[in-house]
Amino acid sequence: MIVTHSSSSALATLGEFGLISRITSGVVAHEGVITGIGDDAAVTVSPSGMHLLTSTDMLLEDVHFRRSWHDPYRLGRKSLAVSISDIAAMGGVPRRALLSLAIPSDLPLDFIDEIMRGFLAMASEHQVALIGGDTCASRSGLVISVTIMGEQHPDKIVRRSGAQPDDDIWVTGTLGDAALGLKLVERGFDSTQPPCSQPSGSAKQDSRSQSGSRSLSGVEGADALISRLLDPVPRVSVALALTEAGLPTAMIDISDGVLADYGHIAEQSGVGGSIIIDDLPLSSAFRSCPAHFPVLPHQMALSGGEDYELCFTAHRSNRQKIVDCVKKCGVAVTRIGIVSSCAGVVAVNQDGTPFSIRNEGFNHFT
Ligand code: ADP
Ligand code: MG
Repeated sequence: MIVTHSSSSALATLGEFGLISRITSGVVAHEGVITGIGDDAAVTVSPSGMHLLTSTDMLLEDVHFRRSWHDPYRLGRKSLAVSISDIAAMGGVPRRALLSLAIPSDLPLDFIDEIMRGFLAMASEHQVALIGGDTCASRSGLVISVTIMGEQHPDKIVRRSGAQPDDDIWVTGTLGDAALGLKLVERGFDSTQPPCSQPSGSAKQDSRSQSGSRSLSGVEGADALISRLLDPVPRVSVALALTEAGLPTAMIDISDGVLADYGHIAEQSGVGGSIIIDDLPLSSAFRSCPAHFPVLPHQMALSGGEDYELCFTAHRSNRQKIVDCVKKCGVAVTRIGIVSSCAGVVAVNQDGTPFSIRNEGFNHFT
């Protein structure tokens, strides 16, 4: 696509094709990619007998991220991670990605370099090949759009529609961390540097205090919570281990809160379910935070978005198999509820009484 943009920036000097070369300079060869970036279309081969899984996601500045919160390296990582997570949620192996960027003319070139460094680091961690994309100028914010392709044997693909009454409802990892991380950055906790490069004392700490966010500097595990928001880890190895063992009956990744996302499983499977709030897995950092934040922790764990954990259902006879299966993946799994035959998803206390909820997850248009 030909795009012109009047600007005196380094970006304008480089031009569209210079930028594409720069963006793709770190791309390495991958098995199955016959022709990658550089022609009108990529040419790839896939093993016969596999089904292709395809998904696309957009990250929009000031809708999904803020440049003042999100360092470009982790933004690049996240832009691919959320797409990889979609393939994992189908039980698929992520293979190839297309990256489209709409870039404001004032964006420093370094910022794009760092996005690419993050994107390609995430790609390398999951052996995903970047095989193309599109690059154009944006008149408003930065837009990052990723299309991902994965594959899986037809018999092994895990859909949202397979949950059965009396199945257990499981989740990986811990819930609500990313939502709490968002509260932290909203309240001014400095998040623009990855945790390892954030000074723990001195100058940076002082400037935070002056800007009125002193109380936040004492939040134990704040970096870990913010990291869950800015640098989510797609649960590929757990998803594949469970899928290869044929254990999940339905699966979804948790981007909008477990209540809303399990709701999609329930709807597409024609079932309902109850989620026991006391069984929701909460991280120690999450548990340490409520003193600083006037929020209901269980509410946040149920409805907070962007954890990118997996929610899956499985026959109750497979409980031990599931625990054994995920051991080697280094991620915990927790049973949080039961699939019911009647429609509707409810959150309940341990004694079965209903837990009242204010909202059911993030929705762009409400
Ligand atoms: P066309 O005009 O045919 O759309 P482009 O000039 O947009 O081609 O792109 C040239 C090549 O660079 C193509 O192979 C395209 O897939 C690739 N490409 C463009 N932008 C990106 C990007 N942001 N990331 C990866 N590859 C890209
Ligand atoms: Mg193009």
